Amino acid sequence: MPPIAAREPRDRLRVAIQKSGRLGDPARDLLSAVGLTWRESRDRLFCFGEGLPIDLLLVRDDDIPGLLTEGVADFGILGRNVLAETGLDGTAPGLEEVRQLGFGPCRLAIGVPEGWDYEGPAQLEGLRIATSYPAITQDWLRRHGVDARTVTLSGSVEIAPSLGQADVVCDLVSSGGTLRANSLKPVETLLESEAVLAAPPGRPEGVRGELADLLLRRLDGVRRVADSKVLTARVPRGRVAELVGLLPDAEAPILTPALELGPDGPTDSGMFAVQALCHGEVSWAVLERLKAAGAEGLTVLPVEGMLV
Ligand code: ATP
Ligand code: ZN
Repeated sequence: MPPIAAREPRDRLRVAIQKSGRLGDPARDLLSAVGLTWRESRDRLFCFGEGLPIDLLLVRDDDIPGLLTEGVADFGILGRNVLAETGLDGTAPGLEEVRQLGFGPCRLAIGVPEGWDYEGPAQLEGLRIATSYPAITQDWLRRHGVDARTVTLSGSVEIAPSLGQADVVCDLVSSGGTLRANSLKPVETLLESEAVLAAPPGRPEGVRGELADLLLRRLDGVRRVADSKVLTARVPRGRVAELVGLLPDAEAPILTPALELGPDGPTDSGMFAVQALCHGEVSWAVLERLKAAGAEGLTVLPVEGMLV
């Protein structure tokens, strides 16, 4: 196994992801979807890229910002919450959110006891707020002119009020179930979060820069594929423009005169076959509008891959 050293010249790209936890598997799935393969070693720190010189570091999410600032990794996949916290508390300033990745959605929220009549930030004045995100919390409090004390806990933040360690919490919430189970309710959202691709500012030098561009291009392709559908339909010739206007975020649709089979062979049907790559949601409502505008044989197909 090659040594994991910082700042030495290297010609392989390194991506740091969570070893386990909520973002580990989706991050690996995303990187597999862009065609990366590794000599597997899930239980180890390092995965050696096989097809392309792109290696993985499997680490705790909290270590990713430091690995990026130290130049040990070129990209990291982590929650925006961790990136924002380490940016504000000074441990890893200046890192950039290069892409948002669409998984691991959650929000950082203030949770107060369920029975409270919450009227606004001023109500938090002088209280103790348990959180794993003291820098984001203090930044928010400062911006709202509130003076309150943060009690930094690395886990089980939501039980702090019932233990008497704090009055309220500032914690990550997705469904709100954990807060509810501890008789708390979310009242303020400080940050909307999801998994993001983070990197130090600037493009890596040399061959790593080219690998970085390739990775970003493929990631964009995969994200676009996930959001895309192909729609096919037959449309009366005179209504093609109207129908194309109804397609959600479609790229230059392919229009072909549609023939129909008569007794003497194929003849002009007066219809066009339309094939369109749509990047917007092709909902039932969209299909119904297209049908009302004269489209026939509407079919929505999934997209497996794309290079545009
Ligand atoms: P590690 O061992 O890597 O330090 P961890 O316990 O800090 O793991 P996880 O609980 O796996 O981290 O959460 C990782 C990220 O998942 C969070 O930083 C956040 O961005 C995201 N996430 C999504 N939903 C939630 C949620 N309901 N609670 C906590 N984190 C969530
Ligand atoms: Zn962590």
